[in-house]
Amino acid sequence: MAKGKVTFNQDICKGCGLCVSVCPTNILAMDEKAINRKGYHPATVVEPENCIGCANCAMMCPDLVITVERM
Ligand code: SF4
Ligand code: SF4
Repeated sequence: MAKGKVTFNQDICKGCGLCVSVCPTNILAMDEKAINRKGYHPATVVEPENCIGCANCAMMCPDLVITVERM
């Protein structure tokens, strides 16, 4: 299966959760322990080893927080 590396520019995340809802492997979550510069819990990747590089999350994010590299 394809592999990907997903990274978040967490300081510009607005906590909408859209990326979490579209990840087919369910590896994204809101980081309830962190609060970013905007005052939101930012999205994060909890099982980075299971990213398939589909880029659904990056396409869905309205604020261009997410970068996906295919490996
Ligand atoms: S690239 Fe695909 S598999 Fe990887 S985190 Fe984004 S939606 Fe999930
Ligand atoms: S879609 Fe973008 S702005 Fe919304 S929670 Fe995910 S990373 Fe943050």
